[in-house]
Amino acid sequence: MSNSISGKCLCGALKYEFDAGEWVIALCHCAKCQISSGSVFSYNACIPASSFRLLSPPASVTVYRTEGPLQESGHPSLRNFCNVCGSTCWTQCETGPDTETRYVKMGTVVKDGQEGFWGSKPVVEVYRKGNEVGWVPRLAGGDESG
Ligand SMILES: [Zn+2]
Ligand SMILES: [Zn+2]
Repeated sequence: MSNSISGKCLCGALKYEFDAGEWVIALCHCAKCQISSGSVFSYNACIPASSFRLLSPPASVTVYRTEGPLQESGHPSLRNFCNVCGSTCWTQCETGPDTETRYVKMGTVVKDGQEGFWGSKPVVEVYRKGNEVGWVPRLAGGDESG
């Protein structure tokens, strides 16, 4: 599949791919992404669930269900991470209007054999409010939806 983009966790036990095509690159500043990622925001490719394929046995994945509001949306989220090395590879909403979206962690994406596909600039950032970190500049034209 030449038009697919693949990704993997740190140890390589968890591998996935998705169709190259329409995606939205978004930064999420929510407190849960901050804790989960150990950083000040998460860097996500928002893609249709129908284009996402897990290439490893499902037993490679541990799903952590975030109770309560995920991103102030009120819908629980499922954080999918490698049960060997702990790298979160994607999240998804359990309920609500966005269950057919996968939020793939861009840091786990491999593009054309090159690890760390950072060429796609984020165009949206969400949930800065209340989680603002002063030294992180705002995206020009970023949609502040939360
Ligand atoms: Zn791993
Ligand atoms: Zn988040």
